[in-house]
Amino acid sequence: MSSDSDCIFCKIIAGEIPSFKLFEDENTLAFMDINPASTGHALVIPKEHAADVHAVSEAAIAQTVKTAKMIALAIDRTLNPDGLNLLQCNGPAAAQSVMHFHMHVLPRREGDELKLNWGLEPGDMDAIGALAERIRSNL
Ligand code: AMP
Ligand code: ZN
Repeated sequence: MSSDSDCIFCKIIAGEIPSFKLFEDENTLAFMDINPASTGHALVIPKEHAADVHAVSEAAIAQTVKTAKMIALAIDRTLNPDGLNLLQCNGPAAAQSVMHFHMHVLPRREGDELKLNWGLEPGDMDAIGALAERIRSNL
C-alpha cells in the first residue's frame, strides 16, 4: 500500500504519531480531529496515500465512505446531534490542509452556524480522548 513518509496521516496510520483512534480495518482508519470544528468531529482516511479526490482510487474512496457511514452512526448514537455533515475538501480554496484524502464526519447542532473553511483551533485533548472512548463503545 502506498504511503508518503512526509505525510502526517501516513504517520498516524504507521503509529509514528498518536491519534484518538475510533476504528481500523485493512483499508481505512477513523480517528478524532484534534482541532474539532464541532464536538465529536472525526476523520476517516484510506490507508493508501492519495492526495485528494482526483488521486484516490475508486476502491479506496468507496471503502472510506463505508467506514464514514459506520462512524456517523456511532457518533449519532453517542451524541444524538441535530444533524451531521460528511465533508471532503480538495485544494487550498476548499481549505484542504492535509494532502492525504480524508472525509470529515461533522456532528451539527441546530443554529451552530458552522461555515466551510472554519479554521483550525486546538481542542481539549482530555475531552476528545474521553469522547473517542464513548464513540468507540457505540460502534
Ligand atoms: P482539511 O482541512 O480538510 O485538510 O482537514 C484536515 C484536518 O486534519 C483538519 O481538520 C485538522 O484539524 C486535522 N488534523 C491535522 N493533524 C491532525 C492530527 N495529528 N490528528 C488529528 N487530526 C488532525
Ligand atoms: Zn498520507
